[in-house]
Amino acid sequence: MRKNTIYLDYQATTPLAPEAREAMLRWLSGPDDLSFANPHSPHAPGRAAAAAIEAAREQVAELLPPGGRVIFTGSATEALNMAIRGCGTRHVAMSAIEHAAVLDTARACVAETTVLPVGEDGLVPEDAAIPASTGLVAVMQVNNEVGTIQPVDTLASHAHAVGALFLCDAVQGAGKLAPPEGADMIALSAHKLYGPKGIGALWVRDGVELAPLILGGGQEQGLRSGTLSPALCAGFGVAAALAVQRREDDAQHIESLWETAYNILEKWDLNGAETVRWHGNLNVRRDGLDVARLMSDLRGVAFSAGSACASGSGRPSHVLKAMGLSDAETKSSVRLGFGRYTTLGEIADACARLNAAAAAQGV
Ligand code: PLP
Repeated sequence: MRKNTIYLDYQATTPLAPEAREAMLRWLSGPDDLSFANPHSPHAPGRAAAAAIEAAREQVAELLPPGGRVIFTGSATEALNMAIRGCGTRHVAMSAIEHAAVLDTARACVAETTVLPVGEDGLVPEDAAIPASTGLVAVMQVNNEVGTIQPVDTLASHAHAVGALFLCDAVQGAGKLAPPEGADMIALSAHKLYGPKGIGALWVRDGVELAPLILGGGQEQGLRSGTLSPALCAGFGVAAALAVQRREDDAQHIESLWETAYNILEKWDLNGAETVRWHGNLNVRRDGLDVARLMSDLRGVAFSAGSACASGSGRPSHVLKAMGLSDAETKSSVRLGFGRYTTLGEIADACARLNAAAAAQGV
């Protein structure tokens, strides 16, 4: 599957960086090479695998504030579950535009939840009211559907003022923006930053105690039992190191892609704030647009009508609804996500095709 498809779904997942793939292969060789050893075994091959995991942990830690520890998990969803369920709170306050991994976990596992509303710009107000009984406040760094950048450091201080912990889902911001310094826990996912699928991490500030979700061999400081994959850890580590090295270059490239797309899509309305936003996310709408037809007409462009998890459900996006859009407006919206490996030619071509397909619908 390639290369007649232009991939514009970087919020759903990013391509695996060739450097990360290379680092993984070292840990995926055959029986003659003892790199398959269990990283939790005390013999020499086991210790070599464990050393690779620790090196990867340090690389991932470079994306995060000082003064905490990185716990590897199977995904960011697992990391968010670990944070919400593991901290033992009875009351979570969370933004209306959190990922389902936060919203559904809190609703299912915590006695009381408070939803912090967002404005039509897709931003949680800095003075959002946090009830005094809140034990945990969860607000994401960058929204996955509209790309808006939330005032997480200010909200973290408000959380601390009522004695609550602050959890930040930094899945869409990690490696792109400075880490949320005020957070007590931060969730990451490797496959959103050019690393492999099947691995995430929870950063936990020193002094914050969590109960484990998964019991067993006591790996990951007792918080997440189960044998780690050196290959996945190594791929995550190299992807994180690359993100640090390439932050400026990646950001400049994104700006050029954004300007190109924004100019070509001049007749479309932007959903969410224009500037307080990660510019690798262009969520736009055209009144009266039939998105299902658009997607079927544009099979050569892989883009999304919402988040990967929600699209296909037929339900209007909870993020766009929380921003005050009508059902019709949410259903005439599309998300274009681009990044490091998108070329200017590809974005220009895809946007021209979007315009032509919308014009063919007479909107
Ligand atoms: N949080 C956000 C903002 C996301 O975009 C996603 C993935 O779509 C997740 C959490 C879940 O990440 P994972 O796929 O690692 O479980």
